[in-house]
Amino acid sequence: MEQTRLLNLAQQLQPKLTNWRRDFHRHPEIGYEEVRTSGIVAEHLESLGLEVTRHVGKTGVVGLLRGETDGPTIALRADMDALPIQDQKAAEYSSQVEGKAHLCGHDAHTTILMGAAELLTGLGRPKSGNIKFVFQPAEEGLAGARAMIQDGVLENPKVDAIAGLHMTPGQDTGTVGVSKGVAFASADRLVIRVFGKGGHAARPHEGIDAIAVSAQVITALQNIASRLVDPLEPVVVTIGKITGGYMGTAIAPEVEMIGTVRTLSPILRERMPALIEQVVSGVCASFGAGHEVVYGDGYPVVVNDHAMVDLLTETVDGLDWAKGWSSIPPSTGGEDFAFYCEQIPGVFFRLGSGNEEERTRYPLHHPMFDLDETAMPYGVGLLSSIALEFLARNTTSEGERSE
Ligand SMILES: [Zn+2]
Ligand SMILES: [Zn+2]
Repeated sequence: MEQTRLLNLAQQLQPKLTNWRRDFHRHPEIGYEEVRTSGIVAEHLESLGLEVTRHVGKTGVVGLLRGETDGPTIALRADMDALPIQDQKAAEYSSQVEGKAHLCGHDAHTTILMGAAELLTGLGRPKSGNIKFVFQPAEEGLAGARAMIQDGVLENPKVDAIAGLHMTPGQDTGTVGVSKGVAFASADRLVIRVFGKGGHAARPHEGIDAIAVSAQVITALQNIASRLVDPLEPVVVTIGKITGGYMGTAIAPEVEMIGTVRTLSPILRERMPALIEQVVSGVCASFGAGHEVVYGDGYPVVVNDHAMVDLLTETVDGLDWAKGWSSIPPSTGGEDFAFYCEQIPGVFFRLGSGNEEERTRYPLHHPMFDLDETAMPYGVGLLSSIALEFLARNTTSEGERSE
C-alpha cells in the first residue's frame, strides 16, 4: 500500500512546513481573530484545487477533497488559535505580537493539516468518499468547534468520522499516545453567590455573614468528591477566586466564588449541577443565607470512539515508518474536540514533539513552549494514513471488506 511511502512525501514537505509554522508562530492570533491565519490556509487550499468554504464558525475554513464517487466522508481537524500569553523564548521565529503566542502548538496543527491537504491532493481524488479538512478557530476556551458545527461543518457532505491530533512535549518526536474511551475531562465554569445581611462586625448575630457561610460552602463542596460520588469516578471542584466584603469591621453582605468543575464521565457531568445546588442551598439555608449557582456551559468530555481508536492503532502498526503508539490515561485538561465526538465517531490522539533539546520539553501553555519541527511530517503522514485507511475500510464496493 502506498501509505508506507507517505512519510517520504511528507518529509519532502519539511521546508514548507517549517516556513508555514514559523510564519504562524511569528504572527499569532487568538480565538475568533484568526483572520490572517485562516486567509493563508484558504489560499493554500484553493491553490490545491479543493472546494473551499470560508467563515465557517466565524474565522474557520473548510477544504473538501471530493472523491470520484459518493462514499463515506472523513474529517481531519486542526485548531488555529494562539494564547493571550507573552512569548518568552528567544528564537528567530518568536512571536512578534505583544502578549500573544502559539504556546499550545496550534500553529503546528494548522501546518500539519495544510501539509496533509497537499499530500492527499497530490495522490489524486479518492476513488470513493471524501476528505474534509477542518481548520477551526478558538479552541482555547471559546468553543470554536461548536461554532463550526452550528455553521454546518459536519454536513454537505455529511461527515461520518473525525480525527485530530495534539502536539505533546512529554512524548518523543513522532510517537503516538491515545486513550481508548475518555481522553479529556469535561470543563465547566462555576459561579456561586452567597447573599447574607450586612452589619457591624461586633454584632454578627444581627447580620448574616456571607464570608462565614462561604467558608462552609467551600468545605462542603469537597464532600461531593469524597462522599456523594463513587470514589472510582474522578471529579474536581475547584474554587479559584473569591471576592466579598468591605472592611474588617463590617459583616460581608455578599460573596462571589468562581471555579471550575471537571469530570471524566458524561453521566457524572450531567449530575454535577444538581449536586452542587444541593450542597450550596443546604449550607446556605442552614445559616439563613440566600444563594445563586450559575453553571457555565463549558467543554464536554472527549470520548474517543473505540472503532476509531482501533483504526488509528492498526494504521500505526501497519506503517513501517511510524514510531509506534502507546495507551495513555485521560487528561483532566479540556479540549473542544469533544463537541465533534458528541455528534460522530472521533479519535483525538497525541503526537510526540519533544526531543533531547530542553526547549522542546516545556509543557503546553508555558511561556517558553516550543517544539521539534521534525514531528510535523509524522503528523502529516499519520493524518493522511488515517484518512486513506478510513475510506478503504468503509467503502462498500462489492467484494471489498465489509465487516
Ligand atoms: Zn491549549
Ligand atoms: Zn491545544
